[in-house]
Amino acid sequence: FNALQTGRCRVDNGARAPHREEGGRPFLSVVAPCYNEADGLDTFYREVRKVCDALGRTYEIVLVNDGSTDGTRERMQQLARSDAAIVAVNLSRNFGQERALAAGLSVCRGELVLILDADLQDPPDLLPRMLARIEEGADVVYGQRRSREGETWFKRSSAWLFYLLLNTVSETPVPRNTGPFRLMRRRVVDELLSMPEPQRFLRGLVSWVGFTQEPILYDRQRRHTGQTHFPVRKMWALACDAVCSLSRLPLRLAGWFALVAMLVMAAALLRCGYDWFSSGTVDGWLAAFGLLSGLSGMQLLSLHILGEYVGRIAEQTRGRPLFIIESVVRQPAAAGVTAE
Ligand code: UDP
Ligand code: MG
Repeated sequence: FNALQTGRCRVDNGARAPHREEGGRPFLSVVAPCYNEADGLDTFYREVRKVCDALGRTYEIVLVNDGSTDGTRERMQQLARSDAAIVAVNLSRNFGQERALAAGLSVCRGELVLILDADLQDPPDLLPRMLARIEEGADVVYGQRRSREGETWFKRSSAWLFYLLLNTVSETPVPRNTGPFRLMRRRVVDELLSMPEPQRFLRGLVSWVGFTQEPILYDRQRRHTGQTHFPVRKMWALACDAVCSLSRLPLRLAGWFALVAMLVMAAALLRCGYDWFSSGTVDGWLAAFGLLSGLSGMQLLSLHILGEYVGRIAEQTRGRPLFIIESVVRQPAAAGVTAE
């Protein structure tokens, strides 16, 4: 794991050792980013513990304090001291939900990883059903919102439009009405950690990783306390990150405009040529318009060419793997034959 794992961090294990299966990883890690969630943290903790205890397997709950200013940090630290299953991770300031999640994923150790919002909008009691799907062979089970309780008309329609646009331009389809809420196998998490890109849109990255992914429908509840930390400004920033992380189309737009400008130029100049031969006069305005379109077309074409290079640079700097091999199937004897 490169950049994400080498990020600077000071580990304080609290009073007791974390909840670990003998010599190995816990069966499950729950990762929850928390930004100013002090009021709801106890309820969240109780609910998650209840569901995890019922599994009868080892688990840890990784709470990432994303630079909260309301006592979340102290409450998390208390929980970590009193309960060995809790791992409290403090970020040095507010980095935003996506990076808080990246931090949580880099610290968690479970064979399976469940991402939850700390406001109980993602119901933890779906866990057994999600687990059943993993046991049937899925690598990722993502929560898909059937309904959105307590969300404004604006948020719902902007989400609808966002997924429509995203899936029109994205090179990887992203399932609509999802959030970070999902259960993933370790191999998927390891792939995510090997992708150090700074502008993260986790839903898209998980889709990009591939493997077997299945939805599970649920009704999204209201926030049980506090209010959303995603005003329009942050939603817009996330949407831009999503599009830029999954699509090169915006960089190619100039090319399409160039084509239109060139066609306009051709039509105008053809018309000028026709006039010249048929009546010996040319409409000066039309000729100027044609030449102007041609010039704009050339500029747009240059932008498009630059865009192609920038797109390639962007892709290279993301540092994603070229491909991810899920498995290799061959007859055991075949290896021996080629080796001899
Ligand atoms: N969150 C975070 N950092 C931020 C904003 C939010 O860690 O800068 C956490 C927040 O505590 C919550 C989750 O991300 O657990 C989702 O945030 P929120 O509920 O505000 O978003 P919404 O559900 O309204 O989309
Ligand atoms: Mg929420």
